[in-house]
Amino acid sequence: MTALIHGQDLYRSFGQTPALQGATLSVAAGEIVAVMGPSGSGKSTLLHCLAGIFAPDRGEVWFDGRRLDKMSDTTRTRLRRTDFGFVFQFGQLVPELTVADNVAIPRLLGRVSRKRAYAQAMSWLDRLGLGDLSGRRTGELSGGQAQRVAVARALVSGPRVLFADEPTGSLDSATGDQVMELLVAAARQEQAAVVLVTHDSRVARSADRIVSVHDGRVVEPENVRATAARFTEARFTEARFTEARAEGAR
Ligand code: ADP
Repeated sequence: MTALIHGQDLYRSFGQTPALQGATLSVAAGEIVAVMGPSGSGKSTLLHCLAGIFAPDRGEVWFDGRRLDKMSDTTRTRLRRTDFGFVFQFGQLVPELTVADNVAIPRLLGRVSRKRAYAQAMSWLDRLGLGDLSGRRTGELSGGQAQRVAVARALVSGPRVLFADEPTGSLDSATGDQVMELLVAAARQEQAAVVLVTHDSRVARSADRIVSVHDGRVVEPENVRATAARFTEARFTEARFTEARAEGAR
């Protein structure tokens, strides 16, 4: 499978704190990959490096056959606007603006006419069941509604990659499930690849593939399975031991 986005042997530190220590991850066009792992393991830093928001200290980031980390700031910013969409934990909407304004912003920044930008925004709001809220200020929305607006804003420019960092992290699980369902369905319809950072296995279930980050490195699924198998084996041994001890006591 050809990678649309690929991070190779990425290193990144913050002062003395190493966040990435040789992380490698490839995501194919249209593929949804969940990036799991404990808090502080480097998931967000990996997402930020792949999206060209942080430059890695070492390693390479490729997008569609081009070196993202070698691009000028202007080129990278333009590419982020046209080819990438973002959903973060706390929507990061502009609370004083309306729902429609928030979703139209990426198009207006992309120099699309006002009329077209708002028409595209409205079409996305309708798709996500938010049409009736278009005139509301986003500061007045519930958490779930705000995240759905964030999904519309992330997809309105037709990105090839959607980066989502704990998109349901601030929602209760029922609302989180609804937002994830919409996000995944919309991304699949648009054939956008998704890099989904989450510590929640319920959320990760909707991905095509799950990778795990530990100490700044990506553990591929085979290894995750092997780790899980060892874990199960250890639990089994422990259970057998407890059982045997109980038998011994009888
Ligand atoms: P995760 O997303 O898995 O919780 P992060 O990528 O946010 O992990 O962080 C990895 C490590 O890098 C952590 O030790 C964190 O404290 C550190 N770190 C991340 N961002 C910064 C920053 N802006 N300044 C200082 N340290 C940071």
